[in-house]
Amino acid sequence: MQTAVKAIIEDVYARNPHEPEFLQAVQEVAEIIIPYMNEHPEYLKANLFERLVEPERMIVFRVPWVDDAGNFRINRGYRVQMNSAIGPYKGGLRFHPSVNPSILKFLAFEQVLKNSLTMLPMGGGKGGSDFDPKGKSDQEVMRFCQSFMTELHRHIGAETDVPAGDIGVGSREVGFLFGQYKRLANEFSGVITGKGFAYGGSLIRPEATGYGLLFFVEEMLKEKGDSLMGKVITVSGSGNVAQHAIEKAIQMGGKPVTASDSSGMIYDPNGIDLEKLAYIKELKNTRRGRISEYAEKYQVEYHPGKKPWHIPCDIALPCATQNELDEEDARVLIENGCMLVAEGANMPTTPEAVRRFQNLHITYAPGKASNAGGVATSGLEMTQNALHASWTAEKVESELKQIMQSIHSQCKQYGQNYNYIDYVKGANLAGFIRVAEAMLAEGHV
Ligand code: NDP
Repeated sequence: MQTAVKAIIEDVYARNPHEPEFLQAVQEVAEIIIPYMNEHPEYLKANLFERLVEPERMIVFRVPWVDDAGNFRINRGYRVQMNSAIGPYKGGLRFHPSVNPSILKFLAFEQVLKNSLTMLPMGGGKGGSDFDPKGKSDQEVMRFCQSFMTELHRHIGAETDVPAGDIGVGSREVGFLFGQYKRLANEFSGVITGKGFAYGGSLIRPEATGYGLLFFVEEMLKEKGDSLMGKVITVSGSGNVAQHAIEKAIQMGGKPVTASDSSGMIYDPNGIDLEKLAYIKELKNTRRGRISEYAEKYQVEYHPGKKPWHIPCDIALPCATQNELDEEDARVLIENGCMLVAEGANMPTTPEAVRRFQNLHITYAPGKASNAGGVATSGLEMTQNALHASWTAEKVESELKQIMQSIHSQCKQYGQNYNYIDYVKGANLAGFIRVAEAMLAEGHV
């Protein structure tokens, strides 16, 4: 029995019209997994791919709240519980005006394979709202979070579904969400990760995605007999992932020269050092200002409306959002000598750009492998919560490093192709096989 990728994809397109991001993520995975399934009839017989792309459950709900001026406001809340074959649903919450079922299903689908790669017992999920925290007061954000959790709390739990942060959901939002859950459920549990250290959070969780990305890049470079020392690095974004990617890059001897937000990018040819990074953190996490203020303070170039990919670099780390690096950006990066691209964000590179990198053997890592450090450390937070324990920063960082090295080894095992590692193939296959084995064992559920 042979199943053609085309037939399966057509079916997924028919069942999920108007969901371009979800279909884009499924297409990439299908092109790798279906040929593998064709060699494993037991997977085909169990219709594993069709089951993998259908969420186990999707919850959509109204989120009413009142703004500071006394106006009644309504947003829409979601939780996509994609796959629980290897553990409770696990994945972040995104608060951004662009949030819709397509974006959340793509993120939840990617999360299933990513969580599997960490080798920790975590299924995949994702959720969020079209609420925009930008420009809202702390009180408005709190009222929104409390209303959001008032509905969501029925569907989650430490052994059921454990959300975390994502775009627009940082430590402030996680605190408000956790506080409301605790009040409603009358229990103090590890129901959400990314918590503050004072109330059950793990040290290094805020840093984990960016740090993990650089540990993964270090492994990629080792394969080439190279290191981060002196490498010029372009980074997009200036939020959680970008800040900590910049931090670890500096610590490892690299030279990050850009940062961006949805309004534009800054180029600092002398390199962003730890002092300038402290300014970015204060600007973004406390004052919630725009990255253009960095250019004014340090007298460097600001490019409104631009992404950083036209700046010459050795390494590019997209850390902002999906589809932020397209084929033309890839062409310019390659022309300027970029030798390695690793994703801090989820699906920031368009399929055409990925093909261009791969065709020219530019070392390229997809987010489900290279940004898995965040969810891996969330898994470590769950372990600490279950043990009522609190590990040192050194222990958590060392566990994180080992997990990123293990993910790299899995990518190599399944993606080695003569003298080139196909990280897309490696990550998708390694992630899939563990979930597939669990689904087979659990029967037709
Ligand atoms: P943050 O909200 O902390 O930061 C997001 C950054 O990206 C901001 O600088 C933001 O700019 C920018 N951005 C957001 N949307 C757009 C857009 N449409 N166009 C241009 N820039 C945009 O989010 P995170 O750093 O947590 O997340 C960044 C990426 O990393 C996402 O893809 C997320 O899914 C992924 N990720 C995050 C993990 C985590 O642990 N936080 C784990 C794994 C992946 P502005 O401030 O102007 O909106």
